[in-house]
Amino acid sequence: MRWTKQLIPTLREVPQEAEIPSHQLMLRAGLIRKLGGGLYTFLPLAFRALKKVEKIVREEMERAGALEILMPALHPREIWERSGRYEVLRDVMFNIKDRQDRPMVLGPTHEEIVTDLVSREIKSYRQLPVNLYQIQTKFRDEIRPRFGLMRAKEFIMKDAYSFDVGWDEADASYKAMYEAYERIFKRCGLRTKVVEADTGAMGGNWSHEFMVLADAGEDGIVECDQCSYAANLERAESRPGGASDFDEAALPCETVPTPGRRTVQEVAAFFQSPPARLIKTLIYMADKKPVAVLVPGDRDVNEIKLKRALKARELALATDEAIEQATGAPVGFAGPVGLQIPMIADLRLKGCKGAIAGANQNDAHRIHVDLERDAKVEDYADLILSREGDGCPRCDGSLHEKRGIEVGHVFKLGTKYSELLGANYLDVDGKQKPAVMGCYGIGVTRTLQSTIEQSHDDNGIVWPISVAPYQVEILVLNMQHEESVRIAEQLIKDLEARGVDVLLDDRDERPGVKFKDADLLGLPVRVNIGERGLAKGVIEIKVRKSPDLQTAPIAEASKAVLGCVDELWKDVAIS
Ligand SMILES: [Zn+2]
Repeated sequence: MRWTKQLIPTLREVPQEAEIPSHQLMLRAGLIRKLGGGLYTFLPLAFRALKKVEKIVREEMERAGALEILMPALHPREIWERSGRYEVLRDVMFNIKDRQDRPMVLGPTHEEIVTDLVSREIKSYRQLPVNLYQIQTKFRDEIRPRFGLMRAKEFIMKDAYSFDVGWDEADASYKAMYEAYERIFKRCGLRTKVVEADTGAMGGNWSHEFMVLADAGEDGIVECDQCSYAANLERAESRPGGASDFDEAALPCETVPTPGRRTVQEVAAFFQSPPARLIKTLIYMADKKPVAVLVPGDRDVNEIKLKRALKARELALATDEAIEQATGAPVGFAGPVGLQIPMIADLRLKGCKGAIAGANQNDAHRIHVDLERDAKVEDYADLILSREGDGCPRCDGSLHEKRGIEVGHVFKLGTKYSELLGANYLDVDGKQKPAVMGCYGIGVTRTLQSTIEQSHDDNGIVWPISVAPYQVEILVLNMQHEESVRIAEQLIKDLEARGVDVLLDDRDERPGVKFKDADLLGLPVRVNIGERGLAKGVIEIKVRKSPDLQTAPIAEASKAVLGCVDELWKDVAIS
């Protein structure tokens, strides 16, 4: 392909709207253009790369035995109401009506649709297992679409759904998908970290996320420095230390005036005490009922863990008014002693003595609080957000925080959806049983952008060979020089005959402009053909990821380029 026949609108300037490198580079290299917030057009080069990612995904899905289907993006709202998820997801779903005024939604995911299908078409254990997948456009009305394709309102996803006769069989399906995902991301040239994750709106029993480690990642994760434990911060546990006993003398609880001291910092400073000695008391509304949540003063509540511990459907911090009603004091002075609403405390507070807490009266705190002696805590659970330096829950190691981009997510769903939507089968014993499900997603467009986020330098993209729009760029320094053009054309012929995708920069631009654009585009191998080299009987070869410029005799040009290409394929090969 010739540059002059392609559409590659590169930009010199870094676009204002783009905050992270991959988004900037996709705009600058002429890969995508914005239509509106969270809406992008794929220009030809990005579309070529996207098709390559999709091809890898398809090959690995087929290899794992999944069957490709295509479901509608437009759904009757009724099916979402039937599963109860309309309430959970209504804010992220695009709600529309057809001409007969029937409520419809644009699908943010497809558990309901595929389970409905299976409930109609699968009748017997003989038809199981089955794993159905699609590569299709999803819609989510994101509050804050950003980072280009990373968080868009419309995006391409691969979603697969497995149905099995029992839990062991479902585990095998999960494992097969997990392994397929490892292969897919490796083949796309991505280094991923698999972390334990929360099941969120999907429900289910267990899930893992495939994370691309990147500073720009929206997800916080922690990993152990000694064992393989790694988890999304939403879910991460950490090893509770021993109970904090700050009060060896076990003094009786006492109320002390603390005029105007409300925050942990202010109170800790007032008592000249470490923040960890404070019991932070937060009032939440769980399914519209107040609950007091106690955590060490230096820690933050993990609301996802809290919601799970309370088995609450809805959870939010209480309003000032509700806090005053529950504690009898203005905001900032809540504490566990004498509080009349249910209380749940973090595990780290179990057995804690000599603590400082709010007194449930204006401008006062209590000291020498012995939580078990002085308050009625109903339950202890792991409620805090893990952080850098916490102990690993599995070993003696420490946890370290990283940022990640979620590119894949696998869930063990169990029988939630099959029971709700009637995906039952007749078992060998003649009984009706719900199929055991798993679901498995890959953000295809996000995966594509992640390859750039993980693989670029100051000059531009450094494409992995497997997903690069073209694998080789041939740069003819002067298109008026006939010998250069002739040699370039012969080389293209040789490379294309060997299945290599080649782009020829045939523009009448200065070499400096062409070199800059070549680095920006970041195709894996570049060949420079110029008068000066040809006079010495050589062409130049530059592998994008390496700083070295090599030369090869003209007669051996295609062999040398193919050698570089083959070498790059080793980076993305499955071992
Ligand atoms: Zn560990």
